[in-house]
Formats: sequence, structure tokens, C-alpha cells
Amino acid sequence: MTAEPQRPAFSDDDARNIARDLYGVDARAGALPGELDLNFHLETDSGEKRILKIARRAESREVLDFQNRAMARLAAATDAPMSPRVCRTLSGDEIGSLRDRSGDVRHVRMLTFVEGTFLVDLSPHSAALLRSAGRFMGRVDRALDGFTHPAMNRSLLWDLKCASEIGPRLNEIESAAQRSLAELFARRFDALAAPRLGALRTGVIHNDGNDHNLLVGRAGSREMEVTGIIDFGDMVHTCLVCEPAIAAAYAAMGKDDPLAAAVEVAAGFHEIFPLEPAEVEVLFPLIGARLFTSVYQSVRQTRSDPQNAYLRISEQPAWDLLEKLALIDPRRAEDSFFDALGMVPFSASPPIGGVSFSNAGRSSHEIMALRKRHLGPSLSVSYERPLKIVRGSMQYLYDHEGRAYLDAVNNVPHVGHCHPRVVDAARRQNALLNTNTRYLHDHIVDYARRLTATMPDPLEVCFFVNSGSEANDLALRLARAHTGHEDIVVVDGAYHGNLSSLIAISPYKFDGPGGKGPPAHVHTTPMPDGYRGRFRSSDADAGQRYAHCVRDAIADAHAAGRNVAAFVCESLLGCGGQIVPPPGYLREAFDHVRAAGGVAIADEVQVGFGRVGSHFWAFETQDALPDIVTLGKPIGSGHPMACVVTTPEIAASFAGGMEYFNTYGGNPVSCAVGLAVLDVIDEENLQQNARHVGARLIAGLGALSERHTLIGDVRGVGLFAGVELVRDRESLEPADWEASFIVERMKDEGILVSVDGPLHNVIKIKPPLVFTHSNADALIQTLDRVLDEREW
Ligand code: PMP
Repeated sequence: MTAEPQRPAFSDDDARNIARDLYGVDARAGALPGELDLNFHLETDSGEKRILKIARRAESREVLDFQNRAMARLAAATDAPMSPRVCRTLSGDEIGSLRDRSGDVRHVRMLTFVEGTFLVDLSPHSAALLRSAGRFMGRVDRALDGFTHPAMNRSLLWDLKCASEIGPRLNEIESAAQRSLAELFARRFDALAAPRLGALRTGVIHNDGNDHNLLVGRAGSREMEVTGIIDFGDMVHTCLVCEPAIAAAYAAMGKDDPLAAAVEVAAGFHEIFPLEPAEVEVLFPLIGARLFTSVYQSVRQTRSDPQNAYLRISEQPAWDLLEKLALIDPRRAEDSFFDALGMVPFSASPPIGGVSFSNAGRSSHEIMALRKRHLGPSLSVSYERPLKIVRGSMQYLYDHEGRAYLDAVNNVPHVGHCHPRVVDAARRQNALLNTNTRYLHDHIVDYARRLTATMPDPLEVCFFVNSGSEANDLALRLARAHTGHEDIVVVDGAYHGNLSSLIAISPYKFDGPGGKGPPAHVHTTPMPDGYRGRFRSSDADAGQRYAHCVRDAIADAHAAGRNVAAFVCESLLGCGGQIVPPPGYLREAFDHVRAAGGVAIADEVQVGFGRVGSHFWAFETQDALPDIVTLGKPIGSGHPMACVVTTPEIAASFAGGMEYFNTYGGNPVSCAVGLAVLDVIDEENLQQNARHVGARLIAGLGALSERHTLIGDVRGVGLFAGVELVRDRESLEPADWEASFIVERMKDEGILVSVDGPLHNVIKIKPPLVFTHSNADALIQTLDRVLDEREW
């Protein structure tokens, strides 16, 4: 299986002759499907059946002997699992040889025929039947227990302990949607299984208990059960737990509840061959690994042997299953296995799998009541029927009942909820040291170097803080210290944070409910909204015209005898309604503020770190260079940290005598987390993923707008998108309750998005960057369906 397939070309007549000449068996022959060997079914006149196997050209004799010895061992076991036995040639050999038409030597074997119906041909599969498959594999491995052979440590891509080697090759999968789905499971394997396999029990296993190899019969008068197995071609010495995982992977195919099917197989195996807790923990990621290995092999081998339909036999069911498993919380799956096996989770396990999923805890009502009493009433809760989320894993969230939600709205868990690399970085550093910037530490300087390397010069000085608000507050102080001016120009509808200084520069708040309007030092400029704003995107000069408004705001300030310290603007406007400014806007607006002696502050708290796909920073999409950049949310992928990056000159202006100290800012744990986040963005190509998946998402949403008149505008870059809903495409009357209604329905359908914008009519989409093509498709299809549900 490791080399390119070289299937020998032998006809049925050749097979018949070989059987007669080598084995003295006179039989009719018919070719059977196979992956690499050429297999023939033989039947004599008296009805005796045999299998003739002609090995591929390069097959080693030792590997065939490995299989033969294993089959002999099974045959000799008490309660022997039904499996083929090897027939000897007329000269008494277990492996015969012959020359093919090109004169090459081929190894030949004749095996007894195993009666039964293939599991794949039987439907439906009862729980009892699946459990019997697990029990059967347990019997196989019990019989193989202690078996060794010189060929057992063969290198095989089908050996799941090496599944990490497949991850980097998944880019050979042509379909981007399929590729990213497979990559999700490769990541899960690397995080949840690979680090643990080294500590597990090993042995020789059959390694291919798939539904095309397992045979079902009626043992006595009892129920149908798995009674036989064929095809020992993938046998290898590896982790024992791969055996039930592989059988479970195939058993789960085509099932409405694949986890339940997999659990039955594992439980059956456990009855006969008890698993250890550390093995149970890796079952689910190993099942995923078998599936991505299988689809990868199908794709690869089909390329080199397009005629061989057998190679794709499990491919579609495997893809379908991967789609279904993506929606299952790996930790819920792990708990299901533990429950079914009557075991307690492995307490010494790393924390990734260690948190037990539980239905326990307060009801939503109880929590709401306690919040009411103990939390400030100004906090809000999303959705009419709020969610109680108890777990997160990459782009999925799971509620207290284990229901999975596709998270298409939380941009804070930038590289995925609870990304194991990030969690691990925090855990390790927390266990080692957490102090502050008054001591020397490598992490803070390493991180500052790494972070500023992503920015254009001269943005190279960092101030570490703990939230986007703190970053913006400090940015205002820097700007004021540097310019000696006080006033700030901000965009209408913008939000920059929850501190007093930022409510003052957030029209989203000061012009919203409970707001008191702008203070005297704040000047607003129109939202650069090309859809419903003063200048529309059809106007090629819209960017410049909106930038002129910034110039005008500065002029108004001057007219009132005031001076502007900064123009503060998000590079793409989130709370403003997912606005993408027209080209040239930021660059020109920055020029205007500099011309007036002020500085340009780009708020990248929402949109930085590769989300826009084409660039690492959203201001780069505008070809603009800010003097100060503020960072938050995605920087720690959920860990509270934030940063201000500025020029040496501005930093120097701020060093006017007063010390700047921030207790938590830049602590070693935060910096370790920040470094891990940058590593993951790099290693998992998340910026590129944002670009590709985002393009598909925005194109798909655009296509929906052709069918649904409620959609007035679709906009976005990378994985930052907005869908603006209107009741009328002429008047642009905002469809606000409709937007909230749709968001609620999407939630019921298992997809989380939100509503924003000054008119509350923009559906906001900004998922973790691990969002896949199939996630994008699911979102589009679901939105399509929800929009179709009623007349709007
Ligand atoms: N700036 C922008 C653009 C934001 O969206 C936010 C938070 N929504 C902030 C600043 C403030 O960040 P934090 O909530 O971390 O203080």
C-alpha cells in the first residue's frame, strides 16, 4: 500500500491454469475486486471454493509470510475467529511463485474461502450486530496477542500511529472544501491523539476491520453476527487501540447516529479485549484519522490507477461521515465511549480531553435568576432563548446538552476555541511563572519582535495591555502626548471600547440608548458606507469624498479653536455594520489628520491577525500606514491580552517622565499565548484559509442575494462579512426584526451569527479562522433555507 500500485494483469484463464498447475485444483475462476493484489474466486465442480491471490510485483515474501503466520495463529486459537487458511502448493509451499508476462516473479497464495455475507451488504445494522463486530475484532486481537514477526514493523501509510504524516499531504486533495474538512481531523489527531500514542499498548493487529472485510453469519440459531474476516494485507505492529477505532470508523458510515454505532463497536471490543482509559481517550481522534487516511488514499491511488473502482469504494461514505463527525464535540465523543465502556476518564490525561462533559449544572432559568441578582443588569445575553455553552473546540461550540453549534460569529477565538496549542502554551507557562514587566523575560521580547515583524516600518514599539479598551485608551494618551493636542475625530457609528475615555469617542454608545452625545473634544465624520451612506460605491471617488469629510471635521474643530490629536478608525468597521470602506479612504484620511498635526490610529481590535485573508492587517487592504495600531480580541485567541504598536518617535514622546506600568500587560503567560497564536496562524495557514474560505462564503452569500430580495447588500473581506437586510431595495428600509429573527432561526439550526449596525439590520459573520469550506457551504445553505421559510 505504500508504493504505487502495480496490479498484475492476469486473466481468469491464467488463474485457472495457475490453480491447476501449482495446486492441483481444477476450478472455474473469476476476478474479484482488490486494492493491490489480484484476487480470483475459484470454484470446483464439486462446489469447493478457494481464493487465489497473486501478489503485486514488488510484494516481499516476508510480508506474505507475516500474513500467513497470523492466519495460522488465528486458526489455531481457541474460539478461532473465522478467517482464511493458507493452502499449500503441490510442492508443499505456502507461497508459490510464477513469472508474469513480463518475466517478473510473482508470489501466489491460495486461501480457503470464508463463508458469509459482507457486513456492508447488510442493512440496517442493529446495535447488536455492530457490537458483535467489535467483539469479533477483540477475538482477532486476543488471538494475535503476543504474536511477533520480522515483517511486523513495516512502514505503512495505513498505520494510524503515523497519521501525522498524512496531514501535510492533504493539500493533494483537489476540492478545497474536502481538503479543509480532512485538515480539521488531521489537526484533531495531532492535538488529541498523536502526543498520547507513544504511551499506549502495542501489538500486531489486523488493521482493516472494514465492512468489506467483515463477514456476517448466523452462529447457531442466534442473531446475525460478525463471524469472519478476510484480507490480512494491512497487518502491522502498532497501537492496539487502532483496531477498534478502524472497525468503528467503518461501522459509523451511513448511520444517522454515527457516534452511537462507533460506541457499540468499541464496547464490543472492550468486552473481549478490555481497553485502558488512555486508549479510550484516543478512540475518537483515531476514527477521524482512519477516515482522513482513507480519503487521502482514495484520492491519491485513484490518480495513479483511475480504472480501479475498488479504490474509491469507501470514499464518499467516508466524506459523509467526516461531515457528521465535525459536528460532534470530541470531548462529548470521548465521554460517550467512557460511559459505554463503564469506565472513568483517565485522570492523568492532559487537560484537552480531561474536562468531563456533563449535563449537571444549573438550568438556564436558574442562571438567569442568579445573574439578575448578582450581575449588573446592563449586561445583555444573546438570543431570545439564551444558550448555555459549556465547551468549545475550534469553530464549534457545545451547549449543556451536547448540541453542537457552528460558530460563525466569535472572532476572539481566532485560531479556534480552545486550540490545543494555545491552551497548552498557557498551561505550561502558568505552571512555570507569571510575573510582570519589572523582571527580564524572554517571552515579551520574543513576542514583540514577532509581532512587529508583521507590521510595516516604523511600527516597531509595543505596549502590552489587557483589553482592546485599554489599548485604545493608551493609544489616545500616546497621541495626546505626541501631538500636544486633545481632540479626536471618530467615525459615526464606531465603537472603540468600554472605558470612559472610549465611550466618549464611540458614537455607537454616546448616540445610542443611554448615551449623552459627543463631548466637546470629539468630532464625528460619516461612516464610509458605500451601500447606504452619503457616497455610494458606484462613485469611484467615494473613498476620497469620505476622507474629505475627515478633513472637514478637523476644519470644524479648528474653527472652534481646537486642535486634533488623532483620527481613530477601525480598518473595517465592525459595530458600524461590517463596513468595508471604499478604496483609498484610510490612506487619504490619515494624510488629512497628519497634515493637521494629528496622528492616525488604526483600531484592529476586531479585524487584525490575518482575518482579511489578503493581508495580515486590515489597514494594509487600504494601502494605509497608521502611526498607532491597537490590537485585542484575536491576539490571544480568547486569552485576555492586547497591545498598542507605534513608532519609536511616538513612544519617545510618551516617555516624558511618568512611568507607564501595567500589572498584567505583557506577562509571561500572555506572551506565551501570543506566540502560540502566531505559530498556529502560520503553521495552519490560517490567513490563506481566511482568504479562500472567505471568498467562497462571500460569493455564496452574494448568490443568495439574487434569490432573496430581503438581502440588500453582501460585503466583506476574508472571514469578515456582513449581510445587510432591507425591506425595499429602493428605499433601503432596514429589515431589523427580520435580521434578529433570522439570527435566532440560524441558532436553532445550529449556526451562530449576530446582528449589528446602527440600524440593527446587518447579519454579522466573523468566525474563527479555522472555518472550513464546508462550514461556509453549511452557513449559506442554512441561510438560504431560513430565508425561504416565510414571506418577508
Ligand atoms: N475596538 C473595537 C473595534 C471593538 O470591537 C472592541 C470590542 N468590541 C474594542 C475596541 C474594545 O475591546 P475590549 O472589549 O477587549 O475592551
